[in-house]
Amino acid sequence: MPPQKLVGYARVAVERAVDRSGGGLTYGIPEQLADLTAGERVIVPLGRGDKPVAGYIVQCLDQPGADIPIGAIKPIIRRDSKAVAFPPALLELAQWISSYYCAPLGVTIASMMPAAVKHNIGTVTRTMIDLAEPIALGEKLPAKQRALLEALAGLPADQRPIEMHDLLHMAGVKTAGPVNKLRERGLITATTRSAVEARWAEHAVDARVPDALTPMQQRIVTDITRAFSAGFSAHLLYGVTGSGKTEIYIRLIQQVVDAGKTAMLLVPEISLTPQTGGRLIGRFPNHRVAILHSGLTAAQRHQHWAMVESGDADIVLGARSAVFAPVPDDALGLVIVDEEHDHSYKQDQAPRYHGRDVAIRRAHTAGCPIVLGSATPSLESWHNAAARNDWSLHRIPERIPGMKLPRVRVLDFLEQRKARKDRGVHLIGPVLERALGETINAGGQALLLLNRRGYANYIACPDQNCGWALTCDHCDVTMVYHRHKTLPTGGFVQCHHCEAQTKLPAHCPQCQKRITTFGLGTQRVEEELHRKFPQLVTGETMLRLDSDTMRGSHALHEALTHFGTGEIKVLLGTQMIAKGLDYPNVRLVGIINADTSINLPDFRATERTFQLVSQVSGRCGRSEQPGLVIVQTFQPDIPAIRLAAEHNFEAFAALELQQRHACGLPPFARMARLVVRDRDHTKAMTRAKDLTRVMIELVAQIDQNIRVRGPAPCPIARIADKHRVQIEIMAPNAVTLQKLIAAGRSQGYLHSTADLVIDVDPLALL
Ligand SMILES: [Zn+2]
Ligand SMILES: [Zn+2]
Repeated sequence: MPPQKLVGYARVAVERAVDRSGGGLTYGIPEQLADLTAGERVIVPLGRGDKPVAGYIVQCLDQPGADIPIGAIKPIIRRDSKAVAFPPALLELAQWISSYYCAPLGVTIASMMPAAVKHNIGTVTRTMIDLAEPIALGEKLPAKQRALLEALAGLPADQRPIEMHDLLHMAGVKTAGPVNKLRERGLITATTRSAVEARWAEHAVDARVPDALTPMQQRIVTDITRAFSAGFSAHLLYGVTGSGKTEIYIRLIQQVVDAGKTAMLLVPEISLTPQTGGRLIGRFPNHRVAILHSGLTAAQRHQHWAMVESGDADIVLGARSAVFAPVPDDALGLVIVDEEHDHSYKQDQAPRYHGRDVAIRRAHTAGCPIVLGSATPSLESWHNAAARNDWSLHRIPERIPGMKLPRVRVLDFLEQRKARKDRGVHLIGPVLERALGETINAGGQALLLLNRRGYANYIACPDQNCGWALTCDHCDVTMVYHRHKTLPTGGFVQCHHCEAQTKLPAHCPQCQKRITTFGLGTQRVEEELHRKFPQLVTGETMLRLDSDTMRGSHALHEALTHFGTGEIKVLLGTQMIAKGLDYPNVRLVGIINADTSINLPDFRATERTFQLVSQVSGRCGRSEQPGLVIVQTFQPDIPAIRLAAEHNFEAFAALELQQRHACGLPPFARMARLVVRDRDHTKAMTRAKDLTRVMIELVAQIDQNIRVRGPAPCPIARIADKHRVQIEIMAPNAVTLQKLIAAGRSQGYLHSTADLVIDVDPLALL
């Protein structure tokens, strides 16, 4: 094949390839593709075999870079005409993520676009019709138009706007032509909504009259508004649960959309979106709210994305990945991250980015303010707000008038269990049992939290001399027993790390004694609830909410709607129920065991326990009715639990920060965690040792204050047949850590693959 004439060059981020520099690979632009622009998806030849692979153009150049001889440059094969281009406005953000989190640029770009957008999957919209103001019925009209207008005018006000197809059906009109004519005459209005938005508008709109702002809320709104014109500024809004943070967000968003700009609101998980989404749509009926989260169908995601990119959305609402919504930088007026402490903002595969930190970066680039809100701020954000000049701290230490923080009783789990006369298993102690009975009898609702699913998490031989326990064949963890009434065996045993399942053995394989199941799980609490409160029927007056019963956001949405109507008296669940639920009739929260995870080998275990207890406690007492929280714990005296019971975040933060400082842990250091994975333990260890040696050499050149710890087996030393060896790096600050990572990357030692996890600012340490 004769060499093609090249009219220019381009850096292309290939979707699946190692790219040492992180800025893409150089290709030539042939004459017939001279109009290619940055962001477009193209097919390029890769490697010795010139395998065609997909990638995105990061940059078009007149001259190639110095990294490759001109003779070795291959031409781009073709453009991927079916694909949607990556928004050029997000390219800089993609490059920052790729370099900060040490992930290949192509992988980063690919993960920033919803799959439906990348592959251009179709969209679904509904046209909603309403009467125009002022209503004019006197005009002379052709018969079909008159029939439509009369049908519309005959509807009660709360049934308008109406979906166009329903209106046509009512008026006996077959085509949309007369509707368009009425629009042209200015007699009706038509707005396009996505199917999701329309569904929420029907069922979830929160029509509550906006609360008048308290003086404290008003002052915060004024303070933050003052910063609007000053470019980038960061605000930490620390307000106890029920202090009216959402109302502050709504007022700020109002000002942004009034100024013709777009506001972005991030929430941790889909479970939170129904209520927040309903409230936003209810409060901004004349604005377009784009909703981006994983619970949508592919087509819905695509449609909302397109709405944002075309500049049609005033408000963008979504979970972690909504931070990549293609709002043009000059249109972005405000970014809000609600429940900023929530760990679901961190992605657990490459690029392992933190949605909150990316949001800060986006606001910085767009030159707009960012507001991080929480009742239990992460210690990173709290420290930033206290230590940095460009961060402002806004406090709301009390609930809005008429709502009091609940009373919290901390009870010793062991004593509660001893108080029982019989020898059976009791996870619900006598105090909690009494309170639950009283709450149900008085017509209230209760939440019960146990952050562990299944029935029992320890299956073992009762003979201590034998010591056998059932562990996963593929992971170094014990397996969990799940009851299942429809199975002939009555249940199964599952590994929560690799999903492997087996039957529950009847006898110990070593000594043939009958095995026992220990430990707690939500299923066991459910069984006990039925024993103690026979009037509670699962699915009717009681629900268990964990990832075993809730498959997908739709099931969760339904369950919460059901709880909202008041039929469900008791909602039992894992941390899913701890997040942001706002139901005024919840008068009791019971925490079955507050310290399920406090002894994990993770320096954030204490912080997480404090957050969980505070957050779930905050779900109750959200009306005039006083709330009660009962915390059962094996360690009633530890500060995380004692201070959560006292609603004293600031004392907890001071204490915990002091300890982190003493140990040189984040936020006083920046951390990166490298995990080498291999089926062969010796190979994993050898590779980790080599990597450690290289990192120590680089540290000597960059900054002696960086500490490299390891290699050592991870706390969970094997998952899904792969042995895991970790190296922990602690740098005095982000700049030195970035220097080290960049050096390791350009010299070819650090590239994120299936067998080398590179996690910058890690949250998961197991
Ligand atoms: Zn396993
Ligand atoms: Zn045994």
